[in-house]
Amino acid sequence: MDAKIIEELSRIMSKERILQNVADRYSYSFDASFGEYLPDVVVQPQSTEEISQLLQLANRYKIPVYPRGAATSLSGGPLPVQGGMVLDMSQMKEKLIIDKENLLAIVSPGVITADIHQKAEEVGLYYPPDPSSSHVSTIGGNLLENSSGPKGLKYGTTKDYVIGLEVVTPTGEIMRTGGKTVKNVTGYDLTRLIVGSEGTLAVVTEAILKLIPKPPARKTMMATFKRLVDSGYAITRILQSGILPSALEMMDQYCIQAVEHYRPSGLPVEAEALIIIEVDGHPKAVEEEIHTCAEICHQHDALEVKVANNEEERQTLWQARRMVSPAISKLGPTKISEDATVPRSKIPDMMEHLRKIREKYQLNLVVFGHAGDGNLHPNILTDKRNKEEMKRVEDAIGEIFEAALALGGTLSGEHGIGTLKAPYLKRELGETGVIMMKKIKEAWDPNHILNPGKIFPQPGQNKVVLT
Ligand SMILES: Cc1cc2nc3c(=O)[nH]c(=O)nc-3n(C[C@H](O)[C@H](O)[C@H](O)COP(=O)(O)OP(=O)(O)OC[C@H]3O[C@@H](n4cnc5c(N)ncnc54)[C@H](O)[C@@H]3O)c2cc1C
Repeated sequence: MDAKIIEELSRIMSKERILQNVADRYSYSFDASFGEYLPDVVVQPQSTEEISQLLQLANRYKIPVYPRGAATSLSGGPLPVQGGMVLDMSQMKEKLIIDKENLLAIVSPGVITADIHQKAEEVGLYYPPDPSSSHVSTIGGNLLENSSGPKGLKYGTTKDYVIGLEVVTPTGEIMRTGGKTVKNVTGYDLTRLIVGSEGTLAVVTEAILKLIPKPPARKTMMATFKRLVDSGYAITRILQSGILPSALEMMDQYCIQAVEHYRPSGLPVEAEALIIIEVDGHPKAVEEEIHTCAEICHQHDALEVKVANNEEERQTLWQARRMVSPAISKLGPTKISEDATVPRSKIPDMMEHLRKIREKYQLNLVVFGHAGDGNLHPNILTDKRNKEEMKRVEDAIGEIFEAALALGGTLSGEHGIGTLKAPYLKRELGETGVIMMKKIKEAWDPNHILNPGKIFPQPGQNKVVLT
């Protein structure tokens, strides 16, 4: 990077927080998705004022700026695709205040999500959004991706818990949105606009989160099914029965086999589907509800139903689901994780599409996900050095998106659009939808310096390109 710009940067922040050597920059060149892009410089701001000055500088010299939390994004969100400056937000982590009286948490963007869970629970409160990456990902990243996880079914996603923000706009102004009140209808809801905007509209420097009382009890069960279609019927019946589980997760046969191979625990490898159901609430209600869920699974020809009787047994049941990521990673060095989401009633149709895509392209395609809210994670395990196979993967991914949209679903339930899904945006939003979103982006970021190359496709980009 130009010596003059570095000189100006060092007037904003101390030199040791301006990383210029290749080894440092390389460690900021990737996320948990695909592709590597070397930034010209990495900065580690520690205050809102520093970020404001950095963005003003970036506007003066038209330098692309990429906010980054823990880089666990599965869609390319923090990748510095056009070079420029990475803003390492993981270092801004000093504030984690639990306001018990108002049921709020006030946090810095670099705070790890699991630390919010722990601090809230210590005082009998609860922050429900729980991405599987919660032990490493930052609350800033969760906010900008509108992350969720198994509890989305009952408790909603990150956006349902953010009531106020402090942000720096792309042109360097410091602004507050929302506040500490749960109700707030003053003007446009800029908080909601920024949450889920994938770091393209503002840099979040503080968030006010809504907490709820911690549910006093929970119960967990696992059911396995010989036929996938039966698990689908059981899920639909449970959701129609008036019970709203706090989690309803599924794994297909390929996941079951991968997990059993990775860490044998007696899972039935002949089962086409496995579901895990958790209910929470009042202890008496929880007992009754888990019993009803188990009954319904039996009525739909479950091979086996296990209800956990204590915390240790509960952890054992969840172990199968937790093992999916490491287990399937053994099936190939390159993992492409998708999160096409369909209306819940369309899960069996989507599973059938995925089976056909797997056969048509002869790929290692496995499926797990949050069945209760229609959010499936088809994962393709491959090897990026195998160019011929990667071409098939590109086509298969395109068909997965087409199938989800044709069933009335969406390109992304929780991982965001990033770089990978940008070419398909218009197919979901239509021409006008994309134009309106681009107008918002242009109004906020006239010089297009904040996280360019994300959400909106680049000219000529009309499919996922992995080769
Ligand atoms: C094993 C694994 C499991 C996962 N499970 C889930 C899951 O269950 N549910 C789910 O939703 N996701 C999941 N994810 C995806 C990922 O963890 C989430 O998207 C997470 O929210 C990203 O947080 P992060 O701190 O890593 O952010 P990053 O990946 O660093 O950034 C994500 C986006 O946020 C922007 N950003 C980050 N901080 C700021 C800030 N302060 N201001 C402005 N923009 C910012 C970045 O520019 C980028 O666009 C998983 C990922 C992995 C690797």
